[in-house]
Amino acid sequence: MTRVARAAVLREHGAPLRIQSVVVPELRPDEILVRIRGVGICHTDLTAAAGGVPIPLPAVLGHEGSGVVAEVGSSVVGLRVGDSVVIGFDSCRTCRNCRRGRPAYCTRFAPLNYSGTRPDGTSVFHDGSGKPVHGNWFGQSSFSSLVVATDRNVVRLPEGVPVELAGPLGCGLATGAGTVLRVLRPEPGSSIAVFGLGAVGMAAIMASRIARCDTIIGIDPNPRRHALALELGVTEVLSPDSVDDIGRHVRRATGGGVDYAVESVGSEAVIRQAMSSLTSPGVCATLGLRGGRNPITIDQTHLLSGRTLTGVIEGDADPHIFLPELAAFWRDGRFPVEKITSTFPFDKLDDAFTAVTAGEVVKAVLTFD
Ligand SMILES: [Zn+2]
Ligand SMILES: [Zn+2]
Repeated sequence: MTRVARAAVLREHGAPLRIQSVVVPELRPDEILVRIRGVGICHTDLTAAAGGVPIPLPAVLGHEGSGVVAEVGSSVVGLRVGDSVVIGFDSCRTCRNCRRGRPAYCTRFAPLNYSGTRPDGTSVFHDGSGKPVHGNWFGQSSFSSLVVATDRNVVRLPEGVPVELAGPLGCGLATGAGTVLRVLRPEPGSSIAVFGLGAVGMAAIMASRIARCDTIIGIDPNPRRHALALELGVTEVLSPDSVDDIGRHVRRATGGGVDYAVESVGSEAVIRQAMSSLTSPGVCATLGLRGGRNPITIDQTHLLSGRTLTGVIEGDADPHIFLPELAAFWRDGRFPVEKITSTFPFDKLDDAFTAVTAGEVVKAVLTFD
């Protein structure tokens, strides 16, 4: 049986995505067909659309998909047609890092998430004339009404969360929250600064509240983000446009610096601000993906006093364990995803991309009827 999906196809780097029909062939035994209800737009989609990640074209991007299982392959156990699911990044589940619960560092991460094909080189989509349209972007390519994923990365959602808004749990929100709850693990009563108040930063703030940090400082030049960050639990917001030396300000405000910093921008200037905001010892996690090489210079004296700069991808979390935990926090009102989300119909994806690029929305989610 062939199925036809409506998908937003990238044909040329820097050009707008075009919605067209694509054909989804027969499922493999380990594959799962998901009817997408919502998909978040992540900055990595924008980076890839601009040519910063080498996925072959034409391709379907989108990697924060959620929806309902429409069909399962013959070897899939544990998921059934009708289940509400969120789709995480793909990982092999068998390499050394996957086996020790760290699939974000899967040794096959790049081919599984960026190659545009299944591991055997075939494509999960083709156009009407049989030419391949690349998919498998983060194991999903969910700017499409139908998505082929596998039991490696499709995760059942608990009852009580709105499935159409759940997709961003799978990347941006897991990245920010996982960095706090899985990597930094702040002790109750500790202090943290979050640089960049996009979806990743807002998730880090919500997670810092869950971890019972006493001092949570949010830094972003966009004043529209400040009120929302305060509502989510920051104790102070700062704008780099009105504070000359963010590091010095944070050190003074906290009596010597924060215990932890989350840096979601990825620029050298912001990484250096984050490092200079730390107390001794303290840990800064950098998360912002710039695409391509991104050399930075750090003063060694920052490190000699026991300060650490680390990098984290995908929150260093296993989607099968962490996404249900985040969904449970959401259901209990402690991780209010809906407060940072703006929805757009899938047909209005150009408007959504414009709003994301202009910083008018924190997390845009495209919804399907
Ligand atoms: Zn692996
Ligand atoms: Zn992402």
